[in-house]
Amino acid sequence: MTNISQRNALLSQLEPQDKADLISIMSDFDFEAGHEFGEVGDDISHIYFVNHGIISAVATMEDGQSAEAYMVGCEGFTGVTAWQVPAETSVRFFCHLAGNAFRVKAAKLRGLASQSESLRTTLASYGAALQVELEQAAPCNAIHSATQRFAKWLLRAHDRANGDTLFMTQEFLAKMLGVQRTTVNDAAQSLAAAGAISYSRGRVTIKDRAALERASCECYLTPEGT
Ligand SMILES: [Zn+2]
Repeated sequence: MTNISQRNALLSQLEPQDKADLISIMSDFDFEAGHEFGEVGDDISHIYFVNHGIISAVATMEDGQSAEAYMVGCEGFTGVTAWQVPAETSVRFFCHLAGNAFRVKAAKLRGLASQSESLRTTLASYGAALQVELEQAAPCNAIHSATQRFAKWLLRAHDRANGDTLFMTQEFLAKMLGVQRTTVNDAAQSLAAAGAISYSRGRVTIKDRAALERASCECYLTPEGT
């Protein structure tokens, strides 16, 4: 590969031989906002180790309502089970912040992982961290307020973004949080009143990260390695 701009935390944690072996089978992949990485039911043919940007895993219900299940940035990779066994995607992966990833065929990664315990351990560590996040998600949605969850979501996006300004519409945020646009508006006004953010048409700017952390529920976790 040329023009490597590696930032993925898992790749940084790999043993040198694992890293060299993995890099030899990966290619650079730039993605733009809105890029679709796969629909529900697709075989996971490729896995993306994110260097920059954010890929969202979104669940959509039969009536069209949707909510983000989790986001993937430079702390992880898409298709979290597909390095172990052939798998289909159960969520829709799409890019919500343009960036770059290293792309590898899932079958090739499985072959490499079958030969290296240290590689398996590193890949499994991400799966374990993601499982903790997902185990928190249902109680968080049931117990914590929309404003708390919005603050948590913004912190997670801020961790994975470059800079303090995030470009996203209320409609997009409503789909990510699984709430009405009016709820997003109320939550944004509340966070703005606390001095945590400013919000104008399609743009959220983090003004006071500490205030945003205070407004978030306890479910916010700092991604490893960032
Ligand atoms: Zn919560």
